[in-house]
Amino acid sequence: MITIATSIRYGNYKHLFNKAVGVERLIQKYWNDFRIKFDFDTRVKFVIRPIRGNTNGIAYDTDNRIEIDPRRDYVQILETIAHELVHSEQTKQNRLSRTGRNRERVYHGQVYHTQVGNYTEYLNRPWEKEARERAAAFIQELSHNGTLALEK
Ligand SMILES: [Zn+2]
Repeated sequence: MITIATSIRYGNYKHLFNKAVGVERLIQKYWNDFRIKFDFDTRVKFVIRPIRGNTNGIAYDTDNRIEIDPRRDYVQILETIAHELVHSEQTKQNRLSRTGRNRERVYHGQVYHTQVGNYTEYLNRPWEKEARERAAAFIQELSHNGTLALEK
């Protein structure tokens, strides 16, 4: 299921509507590629909405929801979707989970303490490295196949 946020449909972000529909089509167009490359729960709910700050996307492990900001170019958005789907896969395969304590995650059996607002620490989290690398590889592969034909 793909939802375009109310703020884009009717609110302050109406100027993003056409782009949001473009993102919706992008998800549909690459759905099979996503399914081949990433083992996510296919009941995933996408929400297309402006996200505060420089965040391009968010994957929520609690309710199988992925939010995507449409204010990027299509290649970056496609890479973001792939990145967030890797997180969905990590959750589905139980390779990434919670301890029950705040700011703790378990990745491949090891407990990590996460810090708020520390960007370097964020980038170094092993589940983020995995998501970045596999999303980049996904884009590269499409690009080599000649199937990465996107609007600007
Ligand atoms: Zn991430």
